[in-house]
Amino acid sequence: PGQQAAHDASKKTVVVLGSGWAATSLLKKIDTDYYNVVVISPHNYFLFTPLLPSVSVGTLEPRSIIQPTRYITRHKKRRVEVYEGEAKSVDVENKTVTFADNSDIKGAVSATTIPYDYLVYAVGAENQTFGIPGVREHTCFLKELPDAEKLRTRLMDCVETAAFKGQEDAEIDRLMHIMVVGGGPTGVEFAGELHDFLVDDLQSWYPELANRLKISLIEALPNVLPVFSKQLIQYTESTFKANKIDILTRTMVREVKEKTVVVQDENKQLKEIPYGMLVWAAGNTSRQITRDLMAQLPDVQNQRRGLLVDEYLRLLGGDGVFALGDCTATSYAPTAQVASQQGAYIARALEQMAKKEQLEETLHSLRASSNSKPEEIEAVVKQINKVSKIKPFHYSHQGSLAYIGSEKAVADLPFFNGNLATGGMATFLFWRSAYISNLLSARNRFLVLNDWMKVKLFGRDVSRE
Ligand code: FAD
Ligand code: NAD
Repeated sequence: PGQQAAHDASKKTVVVLGSGWAATSLLKKIDTDYYNVVVISPHNYFLFTPLLPSVSVGTLEPRSIIQPTRYITRHKKRRVEVYEGEAKSVDVENKTVTFADNSDIKGAVSATTIPYDYLVYAVGAENQTFGIPGVREHTCFLKELPDAEKLRTRLMDCVETAAFKGQEDAEIDRLMHIMVVGGGPTGVEFAGELHDFLVDDLQSWYPELANRLKISLIEALPNVLPVFSKQLIQYTESTFKANKIDILTRTMVREVKEKTVVVQDENKQLKEIPYGMLVWAAGNTSRQITRDLMAQLPDVQNQRRGLLVDEYLRLLGGDGVFALGDCTATSYAPTAQVASQQGAYIARALEQMAKKEQLEETLHSLRASSNSKPEEIEAVVKQINKVSKIKPFHYSHQGSLAYIGSEKAVADLPFFNGNLATGGMATFLFWRSAYISNLLSARNRFLVLNDWMKVKLFGRDVSRE
């Protein structure tokens, strides 16, 4: 890193907001020969979200699935500036971003504004609560690393409180009732991991409580995992049944209270169910900063679901702004696969744009000089035409994978123009190897493999931090 080139005022500056899937994929690919690059994110690391549910029950340790952003950019030719801060606002008119230090320790300067030539807007999304009362106050989310750590601690708190001397039966049943709201992949994967924890560890360390643990999954639609094929939905539902995970479909949460949740079943009947812990996995909504950005461009940004972009991922109404990943409203699902392909696409597009500008400068000086040969000029014009052809973003779907517990996974994979739907133990091994090979670094691979081995040998750590 000591030999990296410094900021060059003659080059354009790309400001990247976020350090998630879209931003990281861009950072890995971007050529810093052409640009100064500045990254701003409230987390100074990348989080490998597909393995986050495993952290919530202690199958994996939190630090095994993150990678510092500085580590990712350490080999770039020009030093990438990484700032731990939260973008507060984007001024599309003046092309500036204002960001602030939101951490506990603040210095004399804790907020500032910087200009950009290009802005890569990749701040992701936040948890959708639909304004349902009590969700923010009483539930746990599963989106970011601290969420999974909090979940693990709360889970053990429920178990230890249930084990407290003299605890009454009804209270034990309440405390040991873990509810999951949302039958999308996040809710399903968490329920599956929780079941493993019950079978592998609770039965060893809390034998008197293990058979009192109840897992319920609540889903408003007629079935779980709506994006997976029908046979995999059935396979997941029957695996959950065998694993004693109650699935309540066509059931909507109406209100969350401190110790009970009010649900409405398919007959529109309201029921109040006691719970010990409630995990909220009901999908995504736009962040406040994204809504503020939309409000600056009311004529073109009128989709509540997210930012509207053109086929080159350029923000409608925002000159020099690209929007990627979960913060956008496109025809693609909000997945890591989409976000990372978009990040790589923008890195390539930026490189082509920079090459074009350089060639245009060359052409300008060739034309200005009386010594230039016509063939020379023609060659440069040809090169300009070549780099000017930026293709629209094209998504290539590699398949969907989800872990459902008891060493089983489900996968919908593209196969000879069709689809291969598979579920079970072999798919679980495929799931593990696919994620291991997708992890960013050898260090992450080592840590994750080590955690898996540790759990196989000694079980999960049931201490409450
Ligand atoms: P993110 O990865 O969420 O990144 C957003 C970044 O912006 C973060 O670094 C955040 O810190 C930063 N940020 C937030 N606010 C600001 C701000 N104001 N200023 C600057 N930066 C900000 N998808 C799959 O394809 N396969 C899976 O198996 C899968 N599993 C998942 C499991 C879980 C538990 C979850 C929650 C999601 C999973 N997903 C999966 C979905 C996937 O994680 C998202 O689609 C993906 O993270 C979107 O990438 P992104 O870059 O748009 O947003
Ligand atoms: P989601 O939007 O896929 O699912 C949320 C579910 O919650 C929906 O099925 C919805 O009907 C239900 N719901 C909403 N409000 C409710 C209420 N009040 N009561 C009952 N049910 C309610 O959300 P997710 O699972 O967090 O996934 C978000 C994105 O991340 C998706 O694109 C998903 O594909 C992706 N993801 C993928 C994987 C994977 O591929 N393994 C894992 C996790 C997430």
